[in-house]
Amino acid sequence: MPLIDSIGRTINYLRLSVTDRCNLRCRYCMPEDGIGKVAHGDILSYEELFQIARVAVSIGIDKIRITGGEPLVRKGLIPFLQKLAEIPGLGQLVLTTNGVLLEKMAVDLRAAGVQRLNISLDSLTPDTFSHISRCGDLTRVLAGIEAAKECGFPIKLNMVVMRGVNDHEILDFAALATASAITVRFIEYMPAIREHNWQRLVVPGSEILARLTQHLTLLPAEHTDLAGPARNFRIPGAAGTLGIITPVSHHFCSDCNRIRVTASGLAKGCLFAGSQVDLKPSLRSGSRGLLAQALAAIVETKPVRHQMSLEACHHQAFRMSSIGG
Ligand code: SAM
Ligand code: SF4
Repeated sequence: MPLIDSIGRTINYLRLSVTDRCNLRCRYCMPEDGIGKVAHGDILSYEELFQIARVAVSIGIDKIRITGGEPLVRKGLIPFLQKLAEIPGLGQLVLTTNGVLLEKMAVDLRAAGVQRLNISLDSLTPDTFSHISRCGDLTRVLAGIEAAKECGFPIKLNMVVMRGVNDHEILDFAALATASAITVRFIEYMPAIREHNWQRLVVPGSEILARLTQHLTLLPAEHTDLAGPARNFRIPGAAGTLGIITPVSHHFCSDCNRIRVTASGLAKGCLFAGSQVDLKPSLRSGSRGLLAQALAAIVETKPVRHQMSLEACHHQAFRMSSIGG
């Protein structure tokens, strides 16, 4: 039976975070002054995460994205993914990573049953990459992308576009999609941590598109389920495709099909909503029925839309790494 929310949206997609820890410190994700990690004891065990996934699938979820923090830093991830991939009724098991550890893990991820990877990459120049990530080594990410391609993963690269930081690289990223069969998605910067004067960083999707079309012919691409919230385009003759995601300038809440569960078991109906349900009590009661009810409650109370726009945002600042993006 499909899972339908209060305004008729079908909810079939769970973003499941397995850790709030990360081997990078991206400026848009974590504030400068420390990151306040969740205590180890509050992080769900793999068995608990598995229970959530299994119950979610039993009530109508058919796609799970594993996220973090950085999911590849959590020990024991591969056997957990193998188990998830075997859940009857789970159609898609996919994962989002910063790519730093991908070179050595790509083969195992593929063998475990992960079907597709989203790789976050915000710059193709070493200095800008390490500035944005506060510590990252671009060569490792590029090696990870190559390893993932070699073992047959379909790949999406996600670039968070920030004015004055990396927006001069929009065309360089587009060139990647011309040269190889990957999807490059440009994502508007979101004010998760609400830094002062955040609007200066947002390059609206309309401007990204205008900048691309000054140099490239873009044709609308057919919208498939795999496109998610992106508006997709193809470049004639290109091996890959481009997508633009506009959570700030043009929200896509009416088509939202997702819920989120953090690594500490907090379920959320919207990234920007303050409301959340702690799944731990129902999980630890051992009752699948209670867990199913708690997940269904998140779907029922899913906000109609978020209240963030270029003019203002009203949410409490949060670390994207604690929710999973
Ligand atoms: N560590 C993994 C990664 O970076 O891909 C997975 C977790 S990360 C929180 C998930 C996604 O959220 C990444 O693609 C990241 O770029 C995106 N993200 C984080 N903060 C963001 C922000 N302020 N605006 C837009 N996207 C953001
Ligand atoms: Fe880590 Fe991903 Fe956040 Fe960057 S965006 S700090 S890689 S969790």
